[in-house]
Amino acid sequence: NISTKQHDVVVIGGGPGGYIAAIKAAQLGFNTACIEKRGALGGTCLNVGCIPSKSLLNNSHLYHQILHDTEKRGIKVKDVEIDIAGLQAAKDLSVKQLTGGVEMLLKKNKVTYYKGNGSFVDEHKIKVEPIEEGVEESILDAKNIIIATGSEVTPFPGIEIDEQKIVSSTGILSLKSIPKKLTVIGGGIIGLEMGSVYSRLGSEVTVIEFQSAVGGAGMDGEVSKNVQKLLKKQGFNFKLGTKVLGAKVNGDVVDIEFEDVKSGKKESIQSDVLLVAVGRRPYLKGLNAEAIGLEVDPKNRVVINNKFETKYPHIQAIGDVTFGPMLAHKAEEEGVAAAEYIKTGHGHVNYNVIPAVMYTHPEVAWVGKTEEELKAEGIAYKIGKFPFVANSRAKTNLDTEGFVKILADKETDRMLGAHIIGPNAGEMIAEAGLAIEYGASAEDVGRVCHAHPTLSEAFKEGCLAAYDKPLNF
Ligand code: FAD
Repeated sequence: NISTKQHDVVVIGGGPGGYIAAIKAAQLGFNTACIEKRGALGGTCLNVGCIPSKSLLNNSHLYHQILHDTEKRGIKVKDVEIDIAGLQAAKDLSVKQLTGGVEMLLKKNKVTYYKGNGSFVDEHKIKVEPIEEGVEESILDAKNIIIATGSEVTPFPGIEIDEQKIVSSTGILSLKSIPKKLTVIGGGIIGLEMGSVYSRLGSEVTVIEFQSAVGGAGMDGEVSKNVQKLLKKQGFNFKLGTKVLGAKVNGDVVDIEFEDVKSGKKESIQSDVLLVAVGRRPYLKGLNAEAIGLEVDPKNRVVINNKFETKYPHIQAIGDVTFGPMLAHKAEEEGVAAAEYIKTGHGHVNYNVIPAVMYTHPEVAWVGKTEEELKAEGIAYKIGKFPFVANSRAKTNLDTEGFVKILADKETDRMLGAHIIGPNAGEMIAEAGLAIEYGASAEDVGRVCHAHPTLSEAFKEGCLAAYDKPLNF
């Protein structure tokens, strides 16, 4: 005698894609439910992703600055110490407050929150197996279903993650001590961010990357080269074009074997902790997707059309579990659009304007096209560059590394891409997103009055440089 409950919209997964889709659906007047099995809302992002990593990045940066960067500012500091338990506690507090906040938001919007695993019984019925004792199983009968089950860490064949010595992006967030030597497999955003945290805390960090560049596929080539240089200056060791062959825990250390991709020369290093950060893959475990014959592609991504619909028009998929960049804000945009499709048959996500940010110091951010993409597409473009060393605020802050690089159409001056390495790049990139979304030219932005002295003047100057000449450089 399992009880059956009727809902207009059932969202499976309470990550940034799922909880936003649920809130939006409820706001549009639907009787909405959200199922989450983790015991806390917010998904990967709030629990073991964006939020805890940014807490560690922010506080390790502060520590590093206090330790190395105060004297020239006229501040004398004595006896600086890192308290790793305190660092973890600050991180846990932000996670707890934010996941709790999402639960409040669901309540406020009258979304029914089921704490449990959701699985397909048939194409309209979802079984919820509760994670809390004493709560009964229920069957949800749904007119519409949104799959937002997210992603999981991609394992490295042959390397066993124990989350102590050999860790994933989850384990690295909760280390109890600072490793003397940290090796990272994967020079993508997560690897470089977590490498930065421990490098600032004193670890000797080595990044092993199969590709010949860091930052992952989406990063502009020139930016990637500069990022590598900056991180090298901060103490990172890079082994690019290098293939990891295996890794094993041997007492207190991890032995890592690798070879040069070109020469085949084999080497090995020892490390206290090994972080495996080679990407994420869609997560469908426990969903019983086989019951409805859900289609997935060879990378396990749920196959959808441009309205996020699977082969069943009433079942959509959004976020990390389907195509596109695995980013929280991308999942959120899709959540809103999916709910709007259900309500009106229309929705909108502009995949050309999904910003990407790497929260190292300096930050790296970009939106729109890279030079490599424009070349491949045969689009003639011009470049406007402005270095932060010529920006008054960056100079005042003694924080002048990096540049703004604007890519604009050679003929029309329309902004096509923006790439920033610099302090606060992650905030500044929103202006580029707005410009590209509205079809602005570099001149349009270059003629907007920007407050002085702000870092954002560098963005304006980058635009000036693209269509005419910069004024302050
Ligand atoms: P998820 O957040 O993965 O949420 C899916 C949820 O569904 C999970 O909570 C899961 O428990 C639940 N679930 C799965 N199956 C079921 C089921 N059958 N029943 C019930 N519940 C289920 N992105 C950024 O934009 N910015 C960043 O700075 C950033 N930093 C990151 C740092 C790290 C270390 C990591 C790992 C990721 C980071 N990301 C970042 C990526 C971001 O976390 C993801 O893109 C985002 O969480 C995807 O959202 P989602 O809703 O699609 O899936």
